[in-house]
Amino acid sequence: MTKQPEELALLAESGRLLACVFALLDGTALAGLSTLQVDTMVEHFIVDDLKARPASKGQYGYGFVLNSSVNAVVCHGVPSSSNVLRDGDIVNFDITLEKNGYIADSSKTYLVGAVKPAAKRLVQTTYEALWMGIRAVRPGARLGDIGWAIERHAKRNGYSVVRDYCGHGIGREMHEEPQVLHFGKPGTGLALREGMVFTIEPMLNRGRRDVRTEADGWTVVTNDGSLSAQFEHTVAVTASGVSVLTLRPDERNMMRKMKVVA
Ligand code: MG
Repeated sequence: MTKQPEELALLAESGRLLACVFALLDGTALAGLSTLQVDTMVEHFIVDDLKARPASKGQYGYGFVLNSSVNAVVCHGVPSSSNVLRDGDIVNFDITLEKNGYIADSSKTYLVGAVKPAAKRLVQTTYEALWMGIRAVRPGARLGDIGWAIERHAKRNGYSVVRDYCGHGIGREMHEEPQVLHFGKPGTGLALREGMVFTIEPMLNRGRRDVRTEADGWTVVTNDGSLSAQFEHTVAVTASGVSVLTLRPDERNMMRKMKVVA
């Protein structure tokens, strides 16, 4: 479950490129675009500009380079020309990228135009919950420490954590061991070791945590129709703490603010 230094360097490069994809989205006015238009734009950028491979396309028979999950969609939303982003929406783009055989995985929830304060608060809290989880990563810490930190932050803010999907080890394969749950008890679960690489990707709901999959077999929605948000990073356990392989330049302040040990 641990990677060698050469592999970690390649994963870091994949992560750096994937961060560039989110920088592109950060600079894109989303209102009025269909989720399929965003998918097409991201595919061209990954293939033509980054000379990389969109790893989700073709995986498990999936036809797109990203998942676009709008409002009550929890995850795995499928890009569509009929799904046009509107002022006030929240939308998560979940994207994977492979370069030199190694895959990085990251997601971010965007605010489209003027979003209601309640939705904004859910998105902000979900982002903080991801960082609570990241901050718990260091050699000797346990997987349960990560899940506990995330769920505690969600509960304190009145939100639930989706339990049906989890983070995962990542490397040459998109989904490797271990499974990283976003809930748990401190001091339990697998002990983290230097060189482990995995995703942390909490999904928080305003309502209950229950979800269901729609008839297309992909789209996962909250059972009660409440809003859901998600953020994801690929991280590596270092000798003393954690390295966020998909860190975007604008997030360096989060490392300081959250007192994350690198
Ligand atoms: Mg993932």
